[in-house]
Amino acid sequence: MNENDLIYSFARQHVIEASGLIALMMPQTLGAGVAVKALDGRYMLVNQVMQSYFDKTPQQFTSLTDAELFPADVVAQLQQSDARIMAGAATYSDQLDCQIDGRPIQCLWFKFPVHGPNGQLLFIGAAMLDTLRAGNIDKMQRSLALLQHTNQELQKNLVELSKLASTDKLTGAWNRRRLEEALVNEMDRLKRYDHPLSMLILDIDFFKKVNDLYGHNAGDHVLMTLANVLQSNLRASDSLTRWGGEEFVVLCPDTTLTTVAALAERLRESVAKTAFAEVGQITISVGVAECMAGEAWDAWFKRADEALYRAKEAGRNQVQIAPEAPEHDGAGKNMAANLVRLSWHAAYECGNPVIDEEHRGLFADANRLLGAVLSARPKAEVAELVNALISDVVQHFKDEEVIIRAAGYPGADEHAAIHSALVDKAVLLVKHFHDGTLAIGELFQFLAHDVVARHMLGADRAFFAYLQPGSTGMAVKESPSL
Ligand code: GH3
Ligand code: MG
Ligand code: MG
Repeated sequence: MNENDLIYSFARQHVIEASGLIALMMPQTLGAGVAVKALDGRYMLVNQVMQSYFDKTPQQFTSLTDAELFPADVVAQLQQSDARIMAGAATYSDQLDCQIDGRPIQCLWFKFPVHGPNGQLLFIGAAMLDTLRAGNIDKMQRSLALLQHTNQELQKNLVELSKLASTDKLTGAWNRRRLEEALVNEMDRLKRYDHPLSMLILDIDFFKKVNDLYGHNAGDHVLMTLANVLQSNLRASDSLTRWGGEEFVVLCPDTTLTTVAALAERLRESVAKTAFAEVGQITISVGVAECMAGEAWDAWFKRADEALYRAKEAGRNQVQIAPEAPEHDGAGKNMAANLVRLSWHAAYECGNPVIDEEHRGLFADANRLLGAVLSARPKAEVAELVNALISDVVQHFKDEEVIIRAAGYPGADEHAAIHSALVDKAVLLVKHFHDGTLAIGELFQFLAHDVVARHMLGADRAFFAYLQPGSTGMAVKESPSL
């Protein structure tokens, strides 16, 4: 095991182990005491020289603070130097004169930061040299220089190590491990906040031929260029992962199926337009899928992968969209609930504020009911929404009849008769729904479609002209339907 391997293996085990390495590497002959403190001021590691000053074993030493080792005035001085390091100083030195266990000690203290891979302060390093005993500042400075060098090397290694652990060497894209980490968070966000989450899988078409014709190196270059082309088309929040060989996964948080399909098409096009050095044109096939509520990664990935397979089968150089999975325990229906909605348009407004407000309210009631039905909410919850819709419909019909009569609409009686027939039918269907002889789908069809949407956008339009400000009521052309 060479020195590098040793550092790696230490670092892999734990950063604390790595900082321990600093202490271990300090040459004992220079007579410098070296220690590593946690940010809460407790010693974590001390070398033998340091131990000898205090006549304590490493076990006794660890988790002690300066207050338990030094006289009060020295403690204040040491704490001040720690504060400097925590405030960002690169080094700090201090001359200390004190008695430890009755022995006079005159020493130089050096403090230095021990950084983690992201540059964050992990520990405070301390080196101490007894100037009476060693009497040689030069030695101390050499020690410190060596110490800092070791520390820097260590940090470089840690940065390298964390990159290595999360990226693909050839393309710089994430590796599977990094993607898996990100997935935990993203799928949790989907579950908690219902944020859409989509992915695409892409695979180079006939890549084997590229290797066969131009060699493996040229193939490697294609992979590197491809990763760049893909990255340049992605948002900062999207991530590119090399899934394996010539297959990549793009994870797109806050992205619906429609948007990810458009992105996939853009990627496909960009790749097809790129001239790859030596090789010329290559194409990719892409499968896209949106994660459904409650869907596990495996199932979601499988749908995207099957879409990719269909893209290959259908002739390559194309995007295929994964259909929703067959129903699984009612989950996944949320997406359908969001896709199928009655949406309100300005053209539906008749100009009377009461009627318009109530119409809008009925749309909202119907959408709530639709959402509950499609997400397979418990029957009691659905029944409550049915009742809310019915009572709003009844109230609205009453209000509307008063208004159209007051506006002089000649078809008011006929319109009231339509209302009454709709309400009678609704009451009957709701009764059947409650005693279990009618499926919610049929009830919904009648309430949301026949009563709310069709009646409002059909029969109601006949009186719209009477409700416009300054209307003569002569503009009515449509014959009332339902
Ligand atoms: P298809 O359109 O069906 O995907 O055909 P294909 O030839 O791309 O598919 P296949 O899976 O048969 O071949 C993939 C090739 O990718 C085979 C392998 O040599 C090559 N490959 C995988 N990883 C690397 C790599 O890191 N560098 C290079 N140069 N080639 C690689
Ligand atoms: Mg392949
Ligand atoms: Mg391929």
